[in-house]
Amino acid sequence: MKNFFLVFLFCHVFAFGSREFSDFDKFQGRWTRADMEERLGLFLQKDGRVASYFSLSDDALVIYNAPETQKNREAEYELKLAPTKNESGSYEKKQKSLVGVKIAIDPGHLGGPYARLEERFIDIPPSLERPEPIQFDEGTLSFLTAVYLKILLEREGAIVMMTRDQVGKGVYGEDFFDWLKKNPDLWKGEISLNKLFRRFYNPLDLRARAAKINAFEPDLSIVIHYNSHEVEEEYSSNHCVASSNYNLVFIPGAFCRNELVEYENRYEFLRLLASEDLPRSMQLSSEILREFNHQLDVPVVSKIDGAHYLDKVCIKVEDGIYARNLALTRLIHSPVCYGETLIQNNINECINLNRRDFVIDGRPCSSRIKQVAEAYFAGIKNYILL
Ligand SMILES: [Zn+2]
Repeated sequence: MKNFFLVFLFCHVFAFGSREFSDFDKFQGRWTRADMEERLGLFLQKDGRVASYFSLSDDALVIYNAPETQKNREAEYELKLAPTKNESGSYEKKQKSLVGVKIAIDPGHLGGPYARLEERFIDIPPSLERPEPIQFDEGTLSFLTAVYLKILLEREGAIVMMTRDQVGKGVYGEDFFDWLKKNPDLWKGEISLNKLFRRFYNPLDLRARAAKINAFEPDLSIVIHYNSHEVEEEYSSNHCVASSNYNLVFIPGAFCRNELVEYENRYEFLRLLASEDLPRSMQLSSEILREFNHQLDVPVVSKIDGAHYLDKVCIKVEDGIYARNLALTRLIHSPVCYGETLIQNNINECINLNRRDFVIDGRPCSSRIKQVAEAYFAGIKNYILL
């Protein structure tokens, strides 16, 4: 049993780096109780029951390995708090240029041949007004956006790392079909390939992306996605057009019930409370969202758009900025902006995105992608320089 534990520990450290609460020793005495209450209320606690894993007093925030109701509950870490606001906690240090700034970019999904498995594609059939179908996929859009953004950033001296380097390839070490062959137990019953991909393989790929980003130790990270809008329950957004078009961004936070059961999640929760990653993610994302709205001429999401998941699993921090506990907002150790630009199945936007009036990485594509990359670029510059 002991050997098993050691092997497990070794694999864990190897795959994800060590995660020890002592990483937060440098934040001892940095924040006040009011700072903690503000972060918990504004960003972190979607469900009040999360509070049974910690206690907060004027002196300290203590994190526990189990909820209040459990007998053998033990304190895991105590973060001492300051009696009054500590000015050294300020994060208003601006740079003069992008030279040497380390930026990680994660182009969402895989795209190309995997787009159908991921269920991240648009395929609008021909109509009376339009003899040709409209077909593209999100993994290709996000990849080309990342390539163009990387060019813009490197031109100004930034050091840029992209998690994946081609369309149709993820970051996890094993291709989906090779991985399937090694895990026949998972497909013994009746389960579709799409479900196998989304439920089991995709989480591995997301963790590999986070691990790659954390090993790079970036100053900031950008996760690029394009959004789509459910028309009605029974219609798929892959094949049906919607009238809404909007931008939004996700930042870390919004822990729901039971999301502190695992050690790793309690570690990330404390990181978001103790470090500057959360307020900086907020600043970065607000700069980027402003540029989305100006440069893409599309508004932020509003209540009448009816994107109900935003109420269910997110905390609205400002118009268009939502805290959400996604794998990548939780696991990336840096300020992060998780962008969801445009509605790919919007009736006008899908025509825009389907154009072939520009070339990136040798691929004919829509100049709309260039505009999206430029908006990210302007937002990043505002965050770093202004
Ligand atoms: Zn996406």
